[in-house]
Amino acid sequence: MAESRKLRMGMVGGGPGAFIGPVHRIAAELDGKIELVAGAFSQSAERSRAAGETYRIDPARAYAGFEEMIRSERERPDSIDFVAIATPNHLHLPIALAAFEAGIAVVSDKPATATYSEVLKLEAAVAKASVPYALTHTYAGYALVREARSICANGELGKIRKVAVEYLQGWLSEPIESTGQKQAAWRSDPALSGPGGCIGDIGTHAFHLVEYVTGLEVTALNAVLRSVVPGRKLDDDCTALLRLGNGAEGVLVTSQIATGEGNGLRLRVYGEKGSLDWRQEDPNRLHFRRVDGLEELRHAGGSYLGSDARAVTRLPGGHPEGYLEAFAVLYREFADALLAAGKGRPVELPSTLPGIRAGVRGMRFIDRAIESSQNEKWVDF
Ligand code: NAD
Repeated sequence: MAESRKLRMGMVGGGPGAFIGPVHRIAAELDGKIELVAGAFSQSAERSRAAGETYRIDPARAYAGFEEMIRSERERPDSIDFVAIATPNHLHLPIALAAFEAGIAVVSDKPATATYSEVLKLEAAVAKASVPYALTHTYAGYALVREARSICANGELGKIRKVAVEYLQGWLSEPIESTGQKQAAWRSDPALSGPGGCIGDIGTHAFHLVEYVTGLEVTALNAVLRSVVPGRKLDDDCTALLRLGNGAEGVLVTSQIATGEGNGLRLRVYGEKGSLDWRQEDPNRLHFRRVDGLEELRHAGGSYLGSDARAVTRLPGGHPEGYLEAFAVLYREFADALLAAGKGRPVELPSTLPGIRAGVRGMRFIDRAIESSQNEKWVDF
């Protein structure tokens, strides 16, 4: 961007009662580099207008659909710079393709698409596009996840030998999709969610965290997917064994019928010299245990943290940062890259920001896990 101004964001999704759209808006605007100016917030024109009012945008820019938003915005001198996708999964691909076609950048929520074949189309479109694509794997934005990633990259754990990741929620313990609960309804409908239920919704976050922190790729897996709640069309529970590129083994446990759990994401990484333990519900502390028994507790905001963690910290130690700030880190990295590139110059997104590669890996994970579970065997990645 040649001129000094905020980036202009157009959002799809985030209508009245939505979960993640309002989070995108708060996170995008937190650092003062982005402003929400347009949106197609709902599949209903009336609800999109109502959302536009609550977001305090120009009523003329609260559109009835994403096609109309992109068509109208591209004609404006003050057009949106990027689209934020916060809809159910089946719309991620068509919205991203329409944005790229118009030369508009994309920040999409996960999973990247609804199916594996779709993500290959998206990957090809990103490769051809003149504008960047980022994927909001929220947990990559936490300072102590960045610290854990640096510790692994620096070799401080020695050779990684074992990984245990769990992502346990309890909110789908009952068939609330049949009561009309909005978030549950589309998540348990294969036409809107894709073939993965829990494995796609939160399993992809757990899977991403493993590869993001360890820097290792999963090369094979053996998964058991179940639909525990009677009548549910997609999996709501998954247990998987993982094999990693360096020969390490891991276990990934993810469930939305883990009664009583809130957002229980936890990653443990065990190396020959030490181990790490991070929990999303206590995100400002990272346990680092050494092979000689010495235990360290690293706190967010600590002056001793590595540069990657300090770079995404806004507050001094003892002032808790959480979900919104982590989400905002991803937006800040995206905005900084766009603003630094200037008009017409290629945008280099930082390697700390998840992008299309993470999107393809995540969709592959869903695809492989389903195949493994159906055939009751290990599958290669
Ligand atoms: P939600 O049901 O709360 O919200 C979806 C919104 O999309 C609603 O406002 C709905 O009206 C709107 N919508 C549906 N069809 C539309 C259309 N054709 N045009 C415009 N708007 C339309 O769902 P949610 O929980 O907010 O999830 C949305 C997406 O975000 C999903 O892909 C989900 O996987 C992802 N998500 C990510 C995280 C994260 O941590 N990164 C957390 C939750 C959800």
